[in-house]
Amino acid sequence: MLLFTPGPTPVPESVRKAMAEETIHHRTPEFEAIFARARKALFHLMKTDEVVMLASTGTGAMEAAVTNLCRDTLLNINAGKFGERFGKIAQAHGLRNVELKYGWDTPAEVEDVLDALQENPRIDAIAIQISESAGGLRHPVEAIAAAVKEARPDVMIIADGITAVGVERIDVTHIDALLAGSQKALMLPPGLAVIGLSHAAVEKIGAGKGYYFNLATEIKKQRANTTAWTAATTLVIGLEAVLSEIDSQGVESLYDETARRGAATRAALEAIGLHIYPKTPAPSMTTIDDENANEIRTLLKNEFDVNVAGGQDHLKGKIFRINHMGLIKPYEMAWVVNAVEVALDQLGRRTYDGTAGKVFNEIFFGLSV
Ligand SMILES: *Cc1c(COP(=O)(O)O)cnc(C)c1O
Repeated sequence: MLLFTPGPTPVPESVRKAMAEETIHHRTPEFEAIFARARKALFHLMKTDEVVMLASTGTGAMEAAVTNLCRDTLLNINAGKFGERFGKIAQAHGLRNVELKYGWDTPAEVEDVLDALQENPRIDAIAIQISESAGGLRHPVEAIAAAVKEARPDVMIIADGITAVGVERIDVTHIDALLAGSQKALMLPPGLAVIGLSHAAVEKIGAGKGYYFNLATEIKKQRANTTAWTAATTLVIGLEAVLSEIDSQGVESLYDETARRGAATRAALEAIGLHIYPKTPAPSMTTIDDENANEIRTLLKNEFDVNVAGGQDHLKGKIFRINHMGLIKPYEMAWVVNAVEVALDQLGRRTYDGTAGKVFNEIFFGLSV
C-alpha cells in the first residue's frame, strides 16, 4: 500500500535500518555524539538561532511554544483544525486569546492581523500555521511576521511548520518559534518534535514556564548535547539518518522537486476536471474538494493500493488530501494521479484517456508539448 497521507509519511529504508540498531543509553558519549550531529543538521535545516528537540508529538511543541512565549494574550489564526488548536492550548493554560477565523480554504490577511493587534494591545504572541494541514492551505506567514514586527517588535511570532519545515523554503527572519514534527515532513515515526527559536524568543523565555515543557531547561541542556529528560533516542538516531539522507540529495533540490511534484499533481488533477480546494495551496499536499471524495478514496485504497487522507469536521467526506512531503518517487506520484483518473472512469464521471499521467509527466519532467 502506498502511504500518501499528509502525515504520517513513509519512513525511508535507510532510516528504518538506522533505528533498528540496539537501544543505547541516553547519558553516554555515544549518544551525545549522535545528538550533536542531529542538532547541527537541524540548525542547517531550520536556519534559526536556537533549536530544541522534544520527546512529544507536534502538539507538544505547539503547547511549549505558547506557554513559554505568551504571557498575556495569544492571537491565533484559525483556518482549520490546527489553527483552532492554538486557541484551545491558550485557554487550557488560562491565557487570554483572540481568534481570527477564516474558511479552511482562505489564507489569513496581513491587514486583519494588524487590525487585531490595534484592537487588542495586550496581544504579545501570534500563532499561525505555515501550512494548515486541515485544508492544505499556505498562509502568508512571512509577510504577516514582517508587518507585525514593524508595528510591534515585541510580539512573538509562533509559526507551526509541522507540514512546512523540510518541504519548502521558509524565511525565518521575523519568526520567533518555528515548529516541526517527526511524522510529517521529517519522514520519521511519531514522537519527536522540534522548535527553532530566535534570539528574541530565547530572551523572552527567560527562566521558562512549566516543567516538562520548560524551554529554558531544554535550551540549557541541549546546548551541552543532552536533554533535560530521557531523550527519544531511537527517533533522534532516525532524525540524524533522515537529515543526512536529505543532505545527500541537497535540501534545496528537495524543495524544488517537491514544488514541481505538487505543481504537476495539481495540474494533472485539474486537467481531468477536479478542483483544488485551497485558494493558496501549500506545497506539502494537494487537497481536492469533490462530492465523490469518499468514493474516490475507497477506490484508491481497494483497487489501486493508494492510501490518501480525507477531511475532518465540516469537510468530512468532502475533500481528499494527497501528500507531497518527504522523499517521494515520481513514479509513485504518477501512479496516484493515474489511479484517480481511472477511479473517475469507474464512477462514471469521465471516460479514461490518460490525461492525468500525460500532464503530470509533461510538467514534472519539463517536456515541451
Ligand atoms: C499534524 C499537525 C500538528 C499536530 O501534530 P501531532 O503530531 O498530531 O500532535 C500540528 N500542526 C500541523 C500543521 C499538523 O499538520
